[in-house]
Amino acid sequence: MSLTSKTIQELHSLYRSKKTSVQDVVEASLKRIEETNYHLNSFSHICRESALAEAKKLDAAGMPENASMMWGIPVGVKDNMCIKGLPATCGSKILKNYISPYDGAMGVCLKKAGSVVMGSCHMDEFAMGSSCENNAFVKVKNPYDLERVPGGSSGGSAAAVASSQVIVSLGSDTGGSIRQPASFCGVVGLKPTYGLVSRFGLVAFASSLDQIGPFARCVEDAAFLLQSIAGHDKKDSTSYDYTPPDYSKDLKNDIKGIKIGLPKEYFTDGIPADILTCIDKAKKVFCDLGAELVEISLPHTQYAIATYYILATAEASANLARFDGVRYGYRNKEAATLKELYIRSRSEGFGPEVKRRIITGTFVLSSGYYDAYYLKGQKVRTLVKQDFDQAFRKADVILTPTSPCTAFQFGEKIDDPISMYLSDIFTVSVNLAGLPGISLPCGTDDKKLPVGLQLIGPSLGEARLLNAAYQFEKVCPPLGIELKV
Ligand code: GLN
Repeated sequence: MSLTSKTIQELHSLYRSKKTSVQDVVEASLKRIEETNYHLNSFSHICRESALAEAKKLDAAGMPENASMMWGIPVGVKDNMCIKGLPATCGSKILKNYISPYDGAMGVCLKKAGSVVMGSCHMDEFAMGSSCENNAFVKVKNPYDLERVPGGSSGGSAAAVASSQVIVSLGSDTGGSIRQPASFCGVVGLKPTYGLVSRFGLVAFASSLDQIGPFARCVEDAAFLLQSIAGHDKKDSTSYDYTPPDYSKDLKNDIKGIKIGLPKEYFTDGIPADILTCIDKAKKVFCDLGAELVEISLPHTQYAIATYYILATAEASANLARFDGVRYGYRNKEAATLKELYIRSRSEGFGPEVKRRIITGTFVLSSGYYDAYYLKGQKVRTLVKQDFDQAFRKADVILTPTSPCTAFQFGEKIDDPISMYLSDIFTVSVNLAGLPGISLPCGTDDKKLPVGLQLIGPSLGEARLLNAAYQFEKVCPPLGIELKV
């Protein structure tokens, strides 16, 4: 088994017993990235030099007695996080030449833990999308079927982990962008509680919804990465003043008696039978583990997509105003006036989906429409949140499919934004309510593509969520499908 297919626990023991060096692992990761990136396009930038230098530095210093589990672990980072000296293009022409001059929170946390950043991973432009087809430069491929999308917007981060280019990676999730690509690529993806992980240095899409989280090939690895990034940061005003528990400590506890809620609004006619079969098997697995299944109701689910696409676009239109051709990235060289400079730089720098969001967001915030859309959206958001508060009186964890579909073909949905937006149906409510959600592989569909199971927990309920996910993973059979790279 190659070094990059190992778990964090395995690598940690190899380092501890000095059977492997960080340099060996980083070289194996670089080799795998360089051999497969041509097919996958998961990485937008590979930090060969700095990763090797970091590995040598760690080896020379030796593994500290109290080393973090993330010590010496190669990590991929979504292209919208600021890591000093690394490009952060957000998959956009407007930030094509942008190199971060500072370390955002993720740069600080990864360095503190002694992890090795291998490069930045491709994504949908400004994290807007569900397929990575909105990237301005390349198409990221699904490692299980190169004709299909990896999901989005953190598709590069998901594909990088699925194909063992890296051990774990970071993504961001505003409406499903960690969980949906995790489900399409057959890996674990966790969106933490809003405020658990600092957004300092994350290029903002919709600030009240954005949250950074881990991708991993197993639940324990996700717990280790979460541990190293969770916790209070005074540089993010929405960061929780909270000391996270030890996320890997309780993974092995049994889950007898845990109540698993099944929201009746999520199990409607729209879900294909082969996906439903996987979800039904998952329910059975939980019953065998001693869990009790309870029916719950999330009555405002039908309004979630509309609410999300009003609030997220409104926030995006404000956040993206800073890209004006003056301060960052792409700038039109022929403009004669300041106004023309703004118009031409933004028209040429942003792609079509980003423009659609800015226009929609500007509309819902405009005078005369603000009350009808934005204000109403905020009120419905509260109702969605209250649905979950009610549901968690009856259930400890909520179980749903992650997505109503599996990895689709390139071009299948890109010309139909509504159908693309509708595919976020099972993920957006979790962001609206600020809750943690995890996607786990739970089988394959009729086309032999991975199917994802979503578990949702109450606010700051990550430990319980990871515990349930770990117990499920232990007994769920492997996907049994082969990578195409
Ligand atoms: N697919 C959703 C969107 O396009 C979610 C994106 C995300 O979570 N960043 O907005």
